[in-house]
Amino acid sequence: MILVVGGAGYIGSHVVKELVEKEQVIVLDNLSTGHRNLVDDRAVFVQGDLGNKADLKSIFETYPIQAVMHFAANSLVGESVKNPMKYYQNNVAATLTLLETIVDYGVKHFIFSSTAATYGIPNVELITEDCPTNPINPYGRSKLMVEQMLADFAVAYGLNYVVLRYFNAAGAHESGEIGEDHNPETHLIPLILQHLLGQREKIAVFGTDYDTPDGTCIRDYIHVTDLAKAHILALEALLTGKKKTAVYNLGNGLGYSVKEVIETCEKVTGRKAVIEYTDRRPGDPARLVASSQKIEEELGWKAEYSLEQIIESAWRWHRQHS
Ligand code: UDP
Repeated sequence: MILVVGGAGYIGSHVVKELVEKEQVIVLDNLSTGHRNLVDDRAVFVQGDLGNKADLKSIFETYPIQAVMHFAANSLVGESVKNPMKYYQNNVAATLTLLETIVDYGVKHFIFSSTAATYGIPNVELITEDCPTNPINPYGRSKLMVEQMLADFAVAYGLNYVVLRYFNAAGAHESGEIGEDHNPETHLIPLILQHLLGQREKIAVFGTDYDTPDGTCIRDYIHVTDLAKAHILALEALLTGKKKTAVYNLGNGLGYSVKEVIETCEKVTGRKAVIEYTDRRPGDPARLVASSQKIEEELGWKAEYSLEQIIESAWRWHRQHS
C-alpha cells in the first residue's frame, strides 16, 4: 500500500488518480489547502496531520505501507518571504516527524515533492540537477533542507528516495473531474483564466524590468498529469530497486514569459485580457527553465503537454467549476 501525504491537494490528487489504477492507496491530508472531493474514491482517506505523531502511528500500525509520497507543503514564494516561520514549521519540522515515523516503521521508499526554487538564480539556459542550489526565498530553502535530510537519512538509515523538483505545475485532468483549486489563488495561469471568466477585474504582471527579452519573468510550465506520470515511474524505480536515491527535474524544457502566457490564454479562450503592470514580487528569479534530460534517460519520462494544451485543459476545468 502506498501512503500519499497531501493527496487532497492539486498535484497530490492528480498523482492519486494515476496511482489507484495500479496500487492500493491511502491519503493523509489535513485539508488545510486540499479538498476532500479531489481524492479519488478508490483511495482510503484519512484526515490528519503529518506533523502529528499519533495520526501517523495509527496509519502505519493499521496499513502495510510500502512507500510514501509526500506532497503536503506550503508552496507560495511570496508568503514564505512574509511568514518564514510557517514554512519552516510545516515544510521542514512536520516533514521531519514524518521521516522519523517512516524510519521507525521500517518503510524504505520515499518520494518527495521539491521545487525549481531550490536553485535560486541559476545563470544557465537550462537548469540541470547538478546546478548549484542557492535558494533565494524561505520556500526554496525549506524544500532544500528536506532534500539534505533525505541524503543523510539514506546514508544513516538506508532510506531510498526520489526527489522530484517541479517547475511550474499547471493544467487539469483530462477527465474534467479534478483541477487546480487554490484559495486564495496566486498562480499565474488560473488567475488569468479566472480574469477571462469575469471573476477578476484584471491580471497583474509582476515586474517588467527583468533581464529577459520582454522584461517579464520566464517559467517552465508543466502539465500536472505529466508530473503525475513521473511519480509512477519514480515509484516503480524504487520498488524494483532500479534506483536507491535520485534527484530529477520535471519541466518541459521550454520557457515562456508572463506576457507569452497571457497571450496564449487569450488565444485559447478567444478573450482579451486587461493587464496591469506592477512592481516585482519579492523572491522571483527572472528565468527558471528545466533540463529534464536526466529523468528522460534514466526512467523514460517525457513531458507530453504543450503550453497551449496545458491552458486548454485548465480552461475546461475553470469553465466547469467557476
Ligand atoms: N505572476 C504574475 N502575476 C500574477 C501571478 C504570477 O506576473 O498575478 C508571475 C510571477 O511573478 C512569476 C510567474 O508569473 O514570474 C509564475 O508565478 P506563479 O505564482 O504562477 O508560480 P511560481 O513561479 O511562483 O511557482
